[in-house]
Amino acid sequence: MDADIRLRDIPSVDELLRSAAVVEAIECFGRPAVAGALRGVLTRIRNTVRAGADVPSSDAIATAAVAAIEADNRSTLRPLFNLTGTVLHTNLGRALLAQAAIDAATASMREAVALEFDLESGKRGERDDHLRALICELTGAADATVVNNNAAAVLLTLNSLAAGREAIVSRGELIEIGGAFRMPDIMQCSGVRLVEVGTTNRTHARDYRDAIGPETGLILKVHTSNYRIEGFTKEVGVRELAAIAHERGLPLINDLGSGTLTDLDRFGLAHEPTVAEAVADGADIVTFSGDKLLGGPQAGVIVGRGDLLERINTNPMKRALRVDKIRLAALTATLTLYRDPDRLSERLPTLRLLTRSQAEVRQQAERLSHLVGRAVNGAFKVSVIDCGSQIGSGALPLVTVPSAGLALASSSGSGRMLAELAAALRRLPMPVIGRIERGSLILDLRCLEDEEGFIAHLSHLDLPTGGSSS
Ligand SMILES: *Cc1c(COP(=O)(O)O)cnc(C)c1O
Repeated sequence: MDADIRLRDIPSVDELLRSAAVVEAIECFGRPAVAGALRGVLTRIRNTVRAGADVPSSDAIATAAVAAIEADNRSTLRPLFNLTGTVLHTNLGRALLAQAAIDAATASMREAVALEFDLESGKRGERDDHLRALICELTGAADATVVNNNAAAVLLTLNSLAAGREAIVSRGELIEIGGAFRMPDIMQCSGVRLVEVGTTNRTHARDYRDAIGPETGLILKVHTSNYRIEGFTKEVGVRELAAIAHERGLPLINDLGSGTLTDLDRFGLAHEPTVAEAVADGADIVTFSGDKLLGGPQAGVIVGRGDLLERINTNPMKRALRVDKIRLAALTATLTLYRDPDRLSERLPTLRLLTRSQAEVRQQAERLSHLVGRAVNGAFKVSVIDCGSQIGSGALPLVTVPSAGLALASSSGSGRMLAELAAALRRLPMPVIGRIERGSLILDLRCLEDEEGFIAHLSHLDLPTGGSSS
């Protein structure tokens, strides 16, 4: 039959919208979306029919339209399996929240909450009241507030305490965290003038003392989160630096970055300075992130002296940087878990994942290796390997946590095959993200808790080369 004649057999959008096959889709997605998707499908069908194909059934057209709508509606902010080996991966959303935090956040989304309302007096309350006592209890600080993230905490603190004046920082601490967080840029945005002291590898007490003058507003100490200067080095610790600042009536600000609230050594990890230590050592303000080692939602916590917090809280910038009820609820619930340190590593996912033993992860790798081998259809050699996980987000950059996983190497040794495998894993309904290292795709299993879900998703793996190793 002539293509022109067959083109006349293609149903119109109006006809299709009345057909039984489409009524259900309209129920689900609404008439405008279905009509739009049908138009798109029909355009494609006209092209294939002109090229000689048969006209598909109305049912097939409806199915294609529904698939198109579903693909279009699917969020790009997709849940995925983080098998990169970096537990707090900034690009993958950092900390996973504890169940208690998820429940609290959900409840605050569903119901009205006493966000700025004092239930006792019936009068207006303060957003910070929900967290102040708890944070002070956990850190030993006199006062506390919470803002959008730690970058905001640093920005707001500097602006509130030293706008138009000088802030003294060691050259060894002028860090870039990645993305757009560079200490000198944040300082400039906050309106303070940066005064660099010392050298990259060595800064002495006298460097700070010599730099203090009438224009000095504060001294800033920054945790060099994501790198270490090793060898011939010297830095001035918080305690000594606090004494230098206080001699001259200046506040010492300590940007701790990850800022843990608990001693990581008690969980078998390397020591990372805690917020309580910085406060006890004399830092007047300490800032840290909510979604790094703390294991909560994105937030920046500012703790310290009451008079300084007063200046921070009355800065109009605070209003622009505050957190919403959802994160406030999640953060409060997360912090509450710290009151029971014995069960923290069970309840707080970040700590639970970091403290999984290598033996346990290796057993999981052994359980999964043949299933993964079957999913890749023999095109890749799958082996159980020992590897090292990273904490991530700037915590203990040189420390790796002994871990285990699966290494997938292309039988033909082809790098293109490996890239195709990584792409196929990313296309899964719940994508699997590993890392390519020395000719293998490594799946570090430290962060794999939903093993059954992982196995179920693997069955959807669709390697474009169909498993041949050409
Ligand atoms: C991570 C980090 C920041 C930025 O914190 P965010 O919560 O990502 O805004 C600032 N300073 C230091 C030292 C950090 O490690």
